[in-house]
Amino acid sequence: MGDSIEKMSNTAPTCTRCGERQSTYFRPYSGERLCPRCFKDTIRGRVEKTIARYNMLEYDSRIAVGVSGGKDSLGLLHILKEIEGRFPKSELIAVSIDEGVKGYRDEALNIAAEACKGLDVEHIVMSFQDLFGVSMDKIAGMDRELSTCAYCGVFRRRALNMAAQRVEADRLATGHNLDDMAQTAMLNILRGDLSRFYMMNPGGSELPGFVRRIKPFCEVPERESTLFAYLSSFRFQELPCPYAEEAMRNDIRGFLNRMEGKRPGTKFIIYRTAIKMTPEEQTSGLVNTCSVCGEPSSGKICRVCQIIEELSR
Ligand code: SF4
Ligand code: ZN
Repeated sequence: MGDSIEKMSNTAPTCTRCGERQSTYFRPYSGERLCPRCFKDTIRGRVEKTIARYNMLEYDSRIAVGVSGGKDSLGLLHILKEIEGRFPKSELIAVSIDEGVKGYRDEALNIAAEACKGLDVEHIVMSFQDLFGVSMDKIAGMDRELSTCAYCGVFRRRALNMAAQRVEADRLATGHNLDDMAQTAMLNILRGDLSRFYMMNPGGSELPGFVRRIKPFCEVPERESTLFAYLSSFRFQELPCPYAEEAMRNDIRGFLNRMEGKRPGTKFIIYRTAIKMTPEEQTSGLVNTCSVCGEPSSGKICRVCQIIEELSR
């Protein structure tokens, strides 16, 4: 973030928004110089606009927020808590998934629990061990066909949906930021998998067997999410997961950051282009019911049950 943080001195330029306070942040893609208060206001404002643009919420939505303990999901939780306060009939419940990564997820879960307590938000935790009978620590130590993250992604998606169903939510909000969205768009293109573009719709869709997924943070760049967390003074987990190994996503992250440095706004352009490519008619592609667990599936047996079967061999 270094080059965008302005040095505080008597000559620091004033905030272009309020015209009063000294700016501490230069936003390269818009040319704005912002003081901390105005910076935070713009992030809240952007999240509210995103929610309105995609009709993400109703006045009485029961929203499950996926809270990992990282900056994005906690920033989202703080902002949604403010919004919920204005809609007495809406409700917010935090749901966390314990993948079973010792020394990493347990610390994050403590941070998540502490944040929920401070905000007076109900919080539930569901674990891979309880749901699928296996932890990521165990999977990481096994002979296996795929990367750890490939298993983790399939399980987490299912676990979050189950957690949202358990608390009877009608929305499942996740903290995906602009960088995540732009990276996913590039990944889908590089893997030649355009069928996955349906999952990019930030407003989600009503699909049988799924709680509607929404991504209200999708237009907040990662560095601004980090700055928002620091300026809001909440604790969040900074340690990366020890199993993070998605080589292709890391390559794309580096490439996008270099492009953004040279041409500010690149990530927004990629994200907006991807949204234009997202089919209007949404489908999960999961038209069957798994014969083992009864969840939505593309074939006779769902991906989760196939993985459990593979790991038990
Ligand atoms: Fe799971 Fe990979 Fe994320 Fe670790 S980095 S929590 S293994 S998806
Ligand atoms: Zn199944």
